[in-house]
Amino acid sequence: MSAGFSPERILIEAGAEDLPMTRRILARLPGVPVETLRALGPWIRQTARDADAARAAKNWLVISRYPGTFLKKCPGTQGFVCCNYWVINAATGCPLDCTYCILQGYLENNPMIRVFANTDTLFSELERAFAAARGRRFRVGTGELTDSLALDGLTDLSRELVPFFARHTNAQLELKTKTDQVGNLLDLAHQGRTVIGWSVNPPPVIASDEQGTAPLARRLRAAERCQSAGYPVSFHFDPMVLEHGWEGAYREVVRQIFETVPATSIAWISLGGLRFAPELKPIMRRRFPESRLVCGELVPCPDRKLRYLRTLRVPAYRRMLRWIRALGPQVPVYLCMESRDVWEAVYQGPPSELQNLEGLFG
Ligand code: SF4
Repeated sequence: MSAGFSPERILIEAGAEDLPMTRRILARLPGVPVETLRALGPWIRQTARDADAARAAKNWLVISRYPGTFLKKCPGTQGFVCCNYWVINAATGCPLDCTYCILQGYLENNPMIRVFANTDTLFSELERAFAAARGRRFRVGTGELTDSLALDGLTDLSRELVPFFARHTNAQLELKTKTDQVGNLLDLAHQGRTVIGWSVNPPPVIASDEQGTAPLARRLRAAERCQSAGYPVSFHFDPMVLEHGWEGAYREVVRQIFETVPATSIAWISLGGLRFAPELKPIMRRRFPESRLVCGELVPCPDRKLRYLRTLRVPAYRRMLRWIRALGPQVPVYLCMESRDVWEAVYQGPPSELQNLEGLFG
């Protein structure tokens, strides 16, 4: 399959030179200049001097050993309903370039696209964590600080992760992407324990605010291929952009999803309105002056993030829920990063079942 991302330069941190993933990446990028270095700091400072540092940082690929713990509980947000998600941070940074991406705000400390090649440490850590809590069900994702599949054509990480999760009955993996790079997945023995997920938006939003990503039709085609290979699939309407005419555009995406894959193959769908930290606003304005997203009427919420008014969000979620339920009554639908009172207003039910979302995911 095509490697997808092709950096201008590869930087290898000392200690990661001889790891199998490092050798694999180098074999796939012949001719790309490679440097081995002791410290990344000077390179980060050099990148930060670029007028568009966030863009410049996407030209380089750093290969490192991760010194810390790979598996972490998703931090969630205080006062917001938590969906009990765990995250594996096997890479940070992303070759795609969405206007609203939170990673743009991390430039000071962590601007580069960086993969952690010590997968032996990752898998022994996961093995220990899953064995130590057999009664617990781990829902795990890899897309907190990157896109789960945008680097997979270089790293082949999915080819190790998917069979690993197939062997662990108390864990479920979700690979969430805005690409159509699923070639690595189709022949794997997954046992239904990996869900392949797509963030989706109407085509005009993708065209204006999700640069470098696959158009909607290609994402849906990729979902169809994964579903045909037996994978459960998921869809994330996140971030929803509630601009004039959003109803028709989002309803059409819902229709296309259910036309493409059977409802019984959809593991879950999430809804989340556009939100970002106030610090991101000037960065978005500077980097994407044409984007309409910064012009939306967003207000500060208790977690400091800017969101659409609750009076806009709640009816929008309720409509989406109605459209989804009409085509897939059994498909679990959850809200991402929303408060308990928003959940109650949308679902019009008691909050007890929201305390622990495990039930929602079956
Ligand atoms: S795909 Fe995700 S990680 Fe990549 S640029 Fe877009 S929002 Fe950021």
